[in-house]
Amino acid sequence: MDMDGTLYNGDELIPGAEDFLRFLKNVGKRSVFMTNNSSRSRFAYVEKLARLGIESTVDDIASSVNATSCYLKEHYGDTLTIYLVGTESLRQELLTDGFHIVPADYEGDEVNCVLVGYDTELNYRKLERACHFLCEGALFYATNCDLRCPIEGGRYLPDCATICNMLEVSTGRKPRYLGKPDRYIVDYVHTKWGADYEDMVVVGDRLYTDIAVGANAGIDSICVLTGESTLADIDASEVTPTYIFNSIKDVYEILKS
Ligand SMILES: [Mg+2]
Repeated sequence: MDMDGTLYNGDELIPGAEDFLRFLKNVGKRSVFMTNNSSRSRFAYVEKLARLGIESTVDDIASSVNATSCYLKEHYGDTLTIYLVGTESLRQELLTDGFHIVPADYEGDEVNCVLVGYDTELNYRKLERACHFLCEGALFYATNCDLRCPIEGGRYLPDCATICNMLEVSTGRKPRYLGKPDRYIVDYVHTKWGADYEDMVVVGDRLYTDIAVGANAGIDSICVLTGESTLADIDASEVTPTYIFNSIKDVYEILKS
């Protein structure tokens, strides 16, 4: 389950979201909440869902941070010394996962990986340090490929990929983006919860993240029209959802009947 634009918009629950989740629970299906937002911890999502009346635990959340952490561990073990362009909450999550992260004003030469998240605590010093390490040949990873983050009132803020674009233009280096639509977040769900790929479906509102992650992982997808995508966007897109519904309420009505 994507959250923003699928289950809620900002601080408003989308009608039918509660019924849909309760129905899944009653018939013994598991829902996992996926988010590309790496600026907030999983605890913040549990709190947010609770405020909207949806019960969950940190174990029900799969974030781009989990996918990134899994990917980096699998490919590099404990060989990375990371320069992080990310929030304090992202730093804490990565430290808990056992990663070695240098301080934001680090001047030494130990860094072999620059990792960028949706850094709502960004400053110029971090950009300057990240450019330095990238020019020195450090690996370049990013938690999510979102260019902008939707906020209330139909407005947007610069997200992870927009920060990466500054670094890319400055250094000529391109990051590898983890999180949706990279299939690794689905592989993480598969491994962690033992779910078979043919038994999973991804539900979301964004074609280039939610629906694309379904296509990349080879699982079905449901696109709901309560968030970013319109029918015209879907027609014009190369990424095709398996199913299209007006809203989560319609998915619920169909399942119920
Ligand atoms: Mg969304």
